[in-house]
Amino acid sequence: MEKNAQQSALPPKSEFSEWYHELLAAAEILDVRYPVKGLCVWPPFGFSLRKNIYSIIRELLDEDQHEEALFPLLIPENEFMKEADEEAKKGLAEGGIPIGSVIVIDGKIVGRGHNRRVQKGSAILHAEMDCLENAGRLSASEYQRSTLYSTLSPCDMCSGAVLLYGIPKVIIGENRNFQGPEEYVRSRGVEVVVLDDDECTTIMSDFIKQKPNLWNEDIGE
Ligand SMILES: [Zn+2]
Repeated sequence: MEKNAQQSALPPKSEFSEWYHELLAAAEILDVRYPVKGLCVWPPFGFSLRKNIYSIIRELLDEDQHEEALFPLLIPENEFMKEADEEAKKGLAEGGIPIGSVIVIDGKIVGRGHNRRVQKGSAILHAEMDCLENAGRLSASEYQRSTLYSTLSPCDMCSGAVLLYGIPKVIIGENRNFQGPEEYVRSRGVEVVVLDDDECTTIMSDFIKQKPNLWNEDIGE
């Protein structure tokens, strides 16, 4: 009996992650022994709990007419660049500069945007700024586990926003048409990945050829 009591005692509150997993297991909510993101085993009690919670969330989302998308978490994270690229295309179709951006937290896109300097007559709406603005106010801890995607290497302004909010990782489509302060951003501890993506490169180089003045204005030249 005493042994059982000891076994079921929770770890100290200070060790939250241990305590949390212990609780999930003890309550038969979730089996997290498999260390792959997005892959957990749901025992019957946890599964019906999940079903109820999802139906409440679904009701709330449907009421507000949210449009849903599903991204299986096993898709390699670089693939989110396809969404930034979609944003770049949207911008081009609106007569703007074709640069797109998304911000991802825990495998979910929480904000997306594209360069709208032309469309909005804006001095600051680069793709990354539009994306961060559309993501709304996030907490420090949310920024700190986010990844920012941009089809083009972020400029001084957008890199500044990355540093300000402590965004730890930036994935860049290409830096052939323009290169921002990547090395400086790295020196401040940010992981910077350049994909050298053909699609991102072509849409931008075509645009620069067609509308060099708009482009030079965008980068302050
Ligand atoms: Zn910028």
